[in-house]
Amino acid sequence: MILEPFQYFSPLSLDEAFEILTEHHGEAKIIAGGQSLIPLMKMGVEMPCIVDIKKIHELKTIELSNDGSGKVSSVRVGALATYNEIERSVPVRRNIPLLAKTASGIGHPLVRNRGTIGGSLSHCDPAADLCATALALDAQICITGPGMKTRVLSARDFFKGPLETDLHNDEILTSVFFPVSNMKMGYDVQKLTLGHGDFPVFIVSVSLHYDGVKFTNAAIALGGVGETAVRASECESLMRGKESITGEDIREVSRLITDRYDPPVSAELSPDYTREMLSVYTGKALRNAVQMVTG
Ligand SMILES: Cc1cc2nc3c(=O)[nH]c(=O)nc-3n(C[C@H](O)[C@H](O)[C@H](O)COP(=O)(O)OP(=O)(O)OC[C@H]3O[C@@H](n4cnc5c(N)ncnc54)[C@H](O)[C@@H]3O)c2cc1C
Repeated sequence: MILEPFQYFSPLSLDEAFEILTEHHGEAKIIAGGQSLIPLMKMGVEMPCIVDIKKIHELKTIELSNDGSGKVSSVRVGALATYNEIERSVPVRRNIPLLAKTASGIGHPLVRNRGTIGGSLSHCDPAADLCATALALDAQICITGPGMKTRVLSARDFFKGPLETDLHNDEILTSVFFPVSNMKMGYDVQKLTLGHGDFPVFIVSVSLHYDGVKFTNAAIALGGVGETAVRASECESLMRGKESITGEDIREVSRLITDRYDPPVSAELSPDYTREMLSVYTGKALRNAVQMVTG
């Protein structure tokens, strides 16, 4: 449990952080909340140089951003926003309530106080709560590198595999943009955990948009059923464009999901049980989301 020695840097600006990352290229590792990195270090994974980004204030902001014509188009969540800050943020609660709900259910209070959105998405655990919800919400990930070169990727393109993203060693995930819709929203997030506050075995995150006549958008993201969080696109298309979503539609989608996706193998749960629960939780999330729109 004793950590190996490491160099520690605590830059006050992005420029300073990139200088350190460039100088220690390949050896430097960013730390944000430390909720995933410190456990890895305690397990003996060597991190010779740690760059603590917590003092870079510009990474903490959560704000509305507009499309240039003055209309609010998205909520920009800084990489260092903790789960607690996201849950309590007024712009998030008003415009992206699914994100607030997801953040409020992560782990224990200590984890929610320290863990950050940037850390969770960069760590890219296939069953992480925010990875699934970022996918469901069509989040755009903003990445900055040396020379302040910035690129923006969809969450779908950002996640590459278990604990693997498109980030390069000398880049920092700086913020995440969540598009804002002016339509009626239905949403829910449901997950199977072994105990209260435990990491999800799997997670289902659902977002629906309704224009008053039909469901214009239906997003179902699943975590824990593959190498990264995934969108169940073939199920979404069964609901998109419909004027109403019935109990039979929901049962059909739940059936399709259990046919297509393999829930993770776990020592504690039988495969049949986990598969059945995937169907039950998908149905529950969809029913709750539909009811918010039509109920
Ligand atoms: C007891 C416990 C329970 C947990 N339960 C859950 C749970 O139920 N659901 C869940 O989703 N998670 C859970 N977690 C994980 C938690 O969400 C972590 O906080 C998260 O995975 C990492 O966020 P962090 O800010 O702590 O990142 P860190 O641990 O600091 O970093 C994680 C990784 O991301 C990189 N990184 C961090 N920030 C950036 C950035 N801005 N740019 C580029 N790279 C970056 C680091 O280099 C590192 O590789 C749990 C953790 C613990 C310890």
